[in-house]
Amino acid sequence: MKWSRRLAAITLAIGVTGGLTSGFSPAEDKGVNPKIQEMMGQVSEVRIKAILEKMESFGTRNTMSNADDPVHGVGAARTWILNEMTGYSPKLQVRFEKFRVKKQGQRIFKDVDLYNVVAILPGKKMPETVVVVSAHYDSLNLGTRPAAAPAGPGTETAGGAVGAGAPGNTTANMTLADFEKNAELPAPGVCDDASGTAAVMELARVMSQYEFDKTVAFIVFAGEEQGLIGSSLQAVKAKKENQAIEAVLNNDIIGTDVAGNGRMGNGSVSVYSDETMDSVSQQLSRYVREIGERYLPSMKINTVFMGDRLGRGGDHTPFQWEGFAAVRVSTPNEIYANQHRATDTLANMSVPYTAKVAKVNLVAAASLALGPKPPIVLPEPRAGGGGGRRPMPMIARGGGYDAVLRWRAAGVEDDIKGYAIVMRATTSPYWEQEIYVGKVTTYTLKDVSIDDAKFGVKAIGNNGVESLVTSYAYPPRQKVEIETVQ
Ligand SMILES: [Zn+2]
Repeated sequence: MKWSRRLAAITLAIGVTGGLTSGFSPAEDKGVNPKIQEMMGQVSEVRIKAILEKMESFGTRNTMSNADDPVHGVGAARTWILNEMTGYSPKLQVRFEKFRVKKQGQRIFKDVDLYNVVAILPGKKMPETVVVVSAHYDSLNLGTRPAAAPAGPGTETAGGAVGAGAPGNTTANMTLADFEKNAELPAPGVCDDASGTAAVMELARVMSQYEFDKTVAFIVFAGEEQGLIGSSLQAVKAKKENQAIEAVLNNDIIGTDVAGNGRMGNGSVSVYSDETMDSVSQQLSRYVREIGERYLPSMKINTVFMGDRLGRGGDHTPFQWEGFAAVRVSTPNEIYANQHRATDTLANMSVPYTAKVAKVNLVAAASLALGPKPPIVLPEPRAGGGGGRRPMPMIARGGGYDAVLRWRAAGVEDDIKGYAIVMRATTSPYWEQEIYVGKVTTYTLKDVSIDDAKFGVKAIGNNGVESLVTSYAYPPRQKVEIETVQ
């Protein structure tokens, strides 16, 4: 204890006088940032509960429901969300993103105007870089249908939508007329996904009282239940406009901590990414775990290296399709019997659990938005482009038997205190070793083979907040056609 306090004092002294070469700085101590901790403390269960009550009061938020009633249905809901977020802070730029969707499939049984609600908190130093926190505010009641026949994964999507419900929540035999009729049924959708919406709104309120280096976008989508419509259109638009979205934290079903079979646990949350080893989405899920468990040591973050729950969908996926790092935050303890039914109510969920998951989101989003951009490990593109092959990351066998890593700064270099190299066995889910190497852009790991381990590098800001890890991921070898003599 005494020693570490002395070390901290020395570190502080060095920081103040700037007297040492950065390469000799003491290793990073995985500290918590007091500002982020302060923000986390402001996430309010009372406010989250009030949002959930209000969301429930609209009766339904089905995207296909009557949008003209001032207090009932999807129109009333989105207007309330917009006005509420507008009131949080003059710094928040809140707007509807409207898309005119054509009649298609069964679930979109008529042309419909779809509105995502977007609240932008502009960044101070890197406003072009965006961290997204999202959820869907629409809800669904699938009506009376065969009870919980154990439908296999995929069966439920037979209705033409990937956003479809839980196991047994089959839409296989439903007709267009059924969906039309169901659009006005009570669909409180408190867990799915007013819980995610409440987390996004509460983060918008708390975080808009502060300033961040990067831009934070708080988005609640519509049309999730019709097949990820709102998020797909938003993601395509972002890609088309070349938006630099660094991360998407999508929250869907974060409201229950006791599953339908009694399995319980309010101390864990699942983060789904994808199955591609060292993808940007997997890196993001590792980041959420590391930062989440640092600020909330009582919380276990399950990184699940799958796209989603089997055969089921969420709004993070369209962002992955466009090449962005995106994850789904979700409870491991769902109640299938209530999903897409009139029983998905406030009485059947847990506000304290939702607040905990909101806090996980807050510390991850705030760290991303206050931290540096992740380093780049690909060489500068050659002038005039050229070559169809994907560039190889800057990792090499120095002298044959050393690992030589190089990288480039991606953001404001003055704000970077230094870099840390991370390593792990290829079979390990998490980075096992971390070496702080100071403010350099190359580092040699003596006698370390690059052939049987994974490597990555991250930047650490002067404020102690770290970036996402950039992994030295090799593109797979391309198949070559071999010509033979006939
Ligand atoms: Zn949902």
